[in-house]
Amino acid sequence: MPLRLHDSLTRELRELRRPDPADPTDVFRFYNCGPTVYAPAHIGNFRTFVVNDVIRRLLELEFGAAKVKHVRNLTDVDDKTIRRAREEGRPLGEVTRQWTEKFHADCAALNCLPPHVEPTATGHIREQVDMIDVLMKKGNAYRAPDGSVYFKVSSFDGYGRLSRVKERELQVGSALAGKSQAADADEKEDVSDFALWKAHKPEDGANAWDSPWGRGRPGWHIECSAMSKKHLGETIDLHTGGVDLLFPHHENEIAQSECCNGTPFAKHWYHSEHLLVDGKKMSKSLGNLYTLDELVAKSFSPMALRYALLMGHPRKQLNFTLESLHAAEKALATLRAFRAALPATGGEANAFATVFAALHEELNTPAALGALFTLVNRGPAGIDAAAFDRVMFALGLKLDAPAAPKADTPAAITALADKRWAAKTAKDFATADALRKELTAAGWSMLDRKDGYSLEPAKK
Ligand SMILES: [Zn+2]
Repeated sequence: MPLRLHDSLTRELRELRRPDPADPTDVFRFYNCGPTVYAPAHIGNFRTFVVNDVIRRLLELEFGAAKVKHVRNLTDVDDKTIRRAREEGRPLGEVTRQWTEKFHADCAALNCLPPHVEPTATGHIREQVDMIDVLMKKGNAYRAPDGSVYFKVSSFDGYGRLSRVKERELQVGSALAGKSQAADADEKEDVSDFALWKAHKPEDGANAWDSPWGRGRPGWHIECSAMSKKHLGETIDLHTGGVDLLFPHHENEIAQSECCNGTPFAKHWYHSEHLLVDGKKMSKSLGNLYTLDELVAKSFSPMALRYALLMGHPRKQLNFTLESLHAAEKALATLRAFRAALPATGGEANAFATVFAALHEELNTPAALGALFTLVNRGPAGIDAAAFDRVMFALGLKLDAPAAPKADTPAAITALADKRWAAKTAKDFATADALRKELTAAGWSMLDRKDGYSLEPAKK
């Protein structure tokens, strides 16, 4: 069954390239823009990562796990990460390591497969400098008086093909793209040009590297061009990200890569849409910027969040509500009970053809869940556990996910929490209270639920 995804570049539903099964070196090259590691990711970020995880799983099922190479980067140096490190008076690497570990723990809880390579921007300075060097030599970039290097947008005819920005909108878009862009606008020859290399500023502190243009750090866009080239080659099969990255980030990636390499950058572009919360855009001021921990603290399971994020078509805005998590928990309980009643073998091989048809045709996850429940409501006749588990693998739904403490919790803290839970269960409330105080003093809060507890670092 061919795997067809909407292509943001051609605006068409297109079949993904099928790697040659006879050629062991031919793999499907999948690049997905990763997080900026300076704070916990919110559920809007996780919508993109969960959708990408379903793509990864479908690719593996369709082409074979060994025929798929998935790369997702970590942005570990930029304005936000540096500002966070400065505010906390900590080295940049320590801050980004903390949030990388948190991101990994959240991804594991949401059952997202880890990418095969997870390159970091700071680990690929040389590759980025090399690319900028080529762009300078080819006349696609120039050094500004302050030592920053900019990409000359007018040097690339293909600019704007992905986002379809017209000349005027391009200038407005660049001005809106970030305050830092506006701040160094007077250094640029043209307002739409963007930074490849940022000259060192006092607020960058120790976070600077040598380059042929002076000390500084790479711009954000160049990291994805450099890391995808290093780990996947000059032309990749599928490049994905949230729709917020389409312009200017992905437009800039195309410009950098195609001018540097002289080859097409990505054969297929896919963008998932925004997540709304209670009908509104997520924002700190509205207090609706949920993290996974906040939902777990409200006694929801990470799997319920994953399910709820799949309830909307990935290319349409999805309105997230806490009620949708209740519905997701119920649906998971139904699937769990259905699975328990299935024989191990003896079912029809294509029992879930309607589910896979919905997934393969434009990643229609709500239609796939609808088709799944049509079958579940009909009963287990003709269905075996192996076929059912294949559907659960595709959707990444783990039905046996235990309410385990998080992996990044120190063992001594988990031991204290276990002791307190046992005391509470035995109605020894004095001991339970004393142990809670010990946990608080150690900087952890313990959240009780019906069937267990969760732990999280106490808010300061
Ligand atoms: Zn990127």
